[in-house]
Amino acid sequence: MREDVDQLRADVVVAGSGIGGLTAARTALDQGASVIVIEKAPEIGGSAAFSGGSAWTAADVDAWLSVQPDADPAMGQALIDNYQEGAAWFRALGLDIVRRAEPEQFKFARVVDDFRPDAGVFMQRLADSVRAAGGTILTHTGLRQVRLGPGGAVTGVTARGAGRSVHAAARAVILATGGFQASADLRARYFGRWAHRMIVRGTPYSTGDGFLAALEAGAGTAGVFGRFYGHMIPAPPAVTGLHNFASVKPDFSEHAVFVNLHGERFDDEFLGDEVTVHAVVHQPEALCFLIFDERVRRANTSREGPGAAARRVETIRGVGGEILEAPTLEALARQTAERWGVRRVRLMATLTEHNAAARAGDPSMLSVPRSGGLQPLDTPPFYALRCLPGVTFTYGGARTNPRAQVIDSAGRPISGLYAAGADVGGLYTRGYTGGLSIGIAFGRIAGREAAALAARG
Ligand SMILES: Cc1cc2nc3c(=O)[nH]c(=O)nc-3n(C[C@H](O)[C@H](O)[C@H](O)COP(=O)(O)OP(=O)(O)OC[C@H]3O[C@@H](n4cnc5c(N)ncnc54)[C@H](O)[C@@H]3O)c2cc1C
Repeated sequence: MREDVDQLRADVVVAGSGIGGLTAARTALDQGASVIVIEKAPEIGGSAAFSGGSAWTAADVDAWLSVQPDADPAMGQALIDNYQEGAAWFRALGLDIVRRAEPEQFKFARVVDDFRPDAGVFMQRLADSVRAAGGTILTHTGLRQVRLGPGGAVTGVTARGAGRSVHAAARAVILATGGFQASADLRARYFGRWAHRMIVRGTPYSTGDGFLAALEAGAGTAGVFGRFYGHMIPAPPAVTGLHNFASVKPDFSEHAVFVNLHGERFDDEFLGDEVTVHAVVHQPEALCFLIFDERVRRANTSREGPGAAARRVETIRGVGGEILEAPTLEALARQTAERWGVRRVRLMATLTEHNAAARAGDPSMLSVPRSGGLQPLDTPPFYALRCLPGVTFTYGGARTNPRAQVIDSAGRPISGLYAAGADVGGLYTRGYTGGLSIGIAFGRIAGREAAALAARG
C-alpha cells in the first residue's frame, strides 16, 4: 500500500512542543519567520506540562559553576542571561509567570519564577500563543531525520505520523525533543548494567530522537553522559507516574543515610538526591535504602515548610510505597534484611559509624565523606524507604554552542541546525540548576537565530 506523504514548507521547523520547542517557536514567529512545530505525542507540552512549574536558574555564573564544575562558563552565561530575558518576555506576552521571593535556605543564589495557575495550563496557553501568532502545531508527528543539502546545510526534516510521512522543507530546524531518558537502549549504553531499572520520571516520548537525528547529521557530542537530572523514586509496589512524581520525591533525603544492598554508604547524601542519584544507578540492582529517624520525619527538613517531610512520608505510603518502621536501629536492620535482603551486620556497622561521627561532630570519621546534615539517628521510631533512581532528562547530547547552534564533530556549526531544552548537550556537568530554564533560555536563543538565518536566506 502506498503511504501518504505530506509535503510541507516553513522557514523554521521545531521538533518538540515542550518548553524549549514552544518558546523557540513563538520567538521565531515574533521575528517574522513561518514556523511548524512537530510533536510526537498526542498532546503538546512534554514533561514541562507535568512539571512543578517553578522555572529557575542560578543568579550568576559563579553560583552556577559552583554546582556545575568544569562546565563552559559561556554556556552558563547564555543560560542565565536568556532565562532572565525570557521570563520578562513571557510576562510581556501576557503569560502568568511570577517571580518568587527566594526561600533563604537554598544552597546558592538563584532566581525562581512560578508558572500560574499551573504548568499544564501555562503550556496550553503558550501553545495557544504560538497558534495565535500564525504557527502550526502538528501532534502525532515525530521527527525521524534532519535533511541536509549537498553543502551540508539543513534543508528540512522527515517525520512520521499516524499512517503517514511528513516531509517538511525548512531553512532551519530546532531540536527540542527533551533528551534520551525514555530510550532503554540509550540508557543501557550510557548508564551501565542496572540502567533498565531506572524509572523514567518524565514524558515517555523523549527517546533521544533529536540526539540521534543530530548525530546522523554529523553532530559532535558533549557532556557527561553518565549524568542526568533525576530524583530518588519510591520503588514498586509504590505506584508512581507523571501525575505524582513531584509529590513522592523524598525531599528530606539529604538528612537521611543512604545505603545499598550491601548495607554500605556510597556517596555524600548532603549533595542532594538530584546528584547522589547518579551513584545509585551503579549500586547493586540500582537500589538505594534511605534510613532516617523520627527527628528527620518531624523536622522542617523540606523546603515546603513545616510538616512537609511527615506529609511526604504519608504521601509515599499512600501510593503503596513501603516504609519499614522499627523502635530500634537493630530491629530496623533486621527488617530490611528480611524484607529486602540488605546485609544486616554491615548496615549496623554503617549506622554505628554514622552515629559516632555525628556525635563527635567529626565527618572525617566517615569512610564515605558527607558534606553536611551530619546528625545522629537516635530518635525512635526509625524508618527505611526503598528507592530506585528516577531520570527526568539526560545531560549528555549533541554539542551545542551559546548561540544554540549544533556543532559538528570537526567543531563547526551545522548550518541551520539548533537545539533547545534538554537536547542542548553538555550544559550541565553534575548538579541541577533548573530544567524549564534551559528550554526558555535556549528556546529564546534558537528561535532568534533560526529566524535570522531564514531571513538571510
Ligand atoms: C514531575 C516533574 C516535575 C518537574 N518539575 C520541574 C520544576 O518545577 N522546575 C523545572 O525547572 N523543571 C522541572 N521539571 C523538568 C522539566 O519539566 C524539563 O526539564 C523540561 O520540560 C525540559 O524541556 P524540553 O523542552 O527539553 O522537554 P519537554 O518539555 O519534555 O518537551 C519535549 C517534547 O518533545 C517531544 N518529542 C520527543 N521526541 C520527539 C520527536 N521525535 N519529534 C517531535 N517531538 C518529539 C516530546 O513528546 C515532548 O513533548 C520537572 C519534570 C518532571 C517530570
